[in-house]
Amino acid sequence: MLLYNSLTRKREEFVPRTEGKVSMYTCGPTVYHYAHIGNLRTYIMEDVLEKYLTYSGYEVNRVMNITDVGHLTSDADTGEDKMLKGAKREHKTVLEIAKFYTDAFYDDCGKLNIKIPSTVQPATGCIGEFISLVQSLVDKGFGYVAGGNVYFDTSKLKQYYVFNDFSEDDLEVGVREGVEGDENKKNKADFVLWFTKSKFDDQELKWDSPWGLGYPGWHIECSGICMKYLGEYLDIHCGGIDNMFPHHTNEIAQSEAYLGHKWCNYWFHVHHLNTSTGKMSKSKGEFLTVSLLESKGYDPMVYRFFCLQSHYRKSLVFSYENLDNAAVAYNKLVARIAAIDKSDGETDPDAFSDYKRKFVSALDNDLNTSLGITAVYDVLKSDLNGKTKFDLIEDFDRVLSLDLIKAAENYSVNKDAENALLGADDELIEEIEQLIEERKQAKKNKNYAEADRIRDYLAQKNVTLIDTPTGTTYKIG
Ligand code: AMP
Ligand code: ZN
Repeated sequence: MLLYNSLTRKREEFVPRTEGKVSMYTCGPTVYHYAHIGNLRTYIMEDVLEKYLTYSGYEVNRVMNITDVGHLTSDADTGEDKMLKGAKREHKTVLEIAKFYTDAFYDDCGKLNIKIPSTVQPATGCIGEFISLVQSLVDKGFGYVAGGNVYFDTSKLKQYYVFNDFSEDDLEVGVREGVEGDENKKNKADFVLWFTKSKFDDQELKWDSPWGLGYPGWHIECSGICMKYLGEYLDIHCGGIDNMFPHHTNEIAQSEAYLGHKWCNYWFHVHHLNTSTGKMSKSKGEFLTVSLLESKGYDPMVYRFFCLQSHYRKSLVFSYENLDNAAVAYNKLVARIAAIDKSDGETDPDAFSDYKRKFVSALDNDLNTSLGITAVYDVLKSDLNGKTKFDLIEDFDRVLSLDLIKAAENYSVNKDAENALLGADDELIEEIEQLIEERKQAKKNKNYAEADRIRDYLAQKNVTLIDTPTGTTYKIG
């Protein structure tokens, strides 16, 4: 499998260290609020990666943290702890907030068919491990105490900016605007491993440490949890593209300083979901959650389908119009799968292998999920018997997890839907879809006469158009 590796900035053949086994680490959610659908894009694509590796025969051991302390409002070392801010907002304790939003995250994952990694570890459960990691970094000369905090000394490294070509002077690019410089730091790029002093001294959760009562920095949490469960060597580390700097850069710095050797071979970064006005946010504009989409009538599978239609290394623009298009395409796909007669023939093993090869070559090519979906359409368009078609789609859906079979079964039990497909051949379906698109454009251009003409024309062919909040569907007969 070819996978783009952010570390080498190249697509590379993926080869795990131990034959047949993959260790994989995922930066988990900061549980101070609901996940927005941008965060969930990242988890969906990481889920596809894990499932595809499993599908390819690897035994995957995947670990994820839950950030319930230490992630400050800025990704740099200043600002209030996000968890504390969330607790104040809702007049609850930090642990109550953490529990509530961890459960909400699991609910979202359930709705989107995202498999929860086999090990999930909240940061507050590993404080002892973080303290010994920080102590060891201090002992090795990579950590220093200043103004009550413990910092990582980036000047001790041969190379700090492993993912990009930042220079010390460019650091402001990575550290967001409005962040004040920290006078305690020896070098601009140094970062906090352990806090005992913060402007926000009402921090709720604090633990005893050799440096006083305090709490861990966000970066040390991921290194600590990852090494605790997956050992000294890691195959793949994942996260959203924003995590590349400073979070992952700092994880590499401290993990490799601690271990004395290379830590992780492949870095998998998912690009962002944006709105047409820019970055997705939990505070500004509409807070886009899965529940919000559901309340507007969208099936969460439609959102997963929308994500899988584009490549994880391209940023993706969310709009309701784009989601409507995905809804129409998804519903149509399900209808076509529902029309397969699985009692038609026996599985043809040669044809099965041929079509599977197309699917595998799409996913092997840096996880090209949109071509993976095309492989499903190729099966539908083919002249294979019903049983082979059904088996192939069931097989591909082990990776895509679009509920294709389940949704098709639900569709089949709906009498209206069954009627909708009765006697419909591919040509008619194509014509209807083309006309639905033309009618949509006509309506957009306020050409209602043309829109009505299309409706009437189709009515004559015994096709009824049904306008829904998620787009236009149809019924034949
Ligand atoms: P957080 O809960 O803020 O720690 O973020 C959880 C995950 O979502 C991280 O892997 C982030 O890199 C990722 N992420 C944040 N914003 C977006 C976005 N707009 N699109 C895709 N992924 C994102
Ligand atoms: Zn992390």
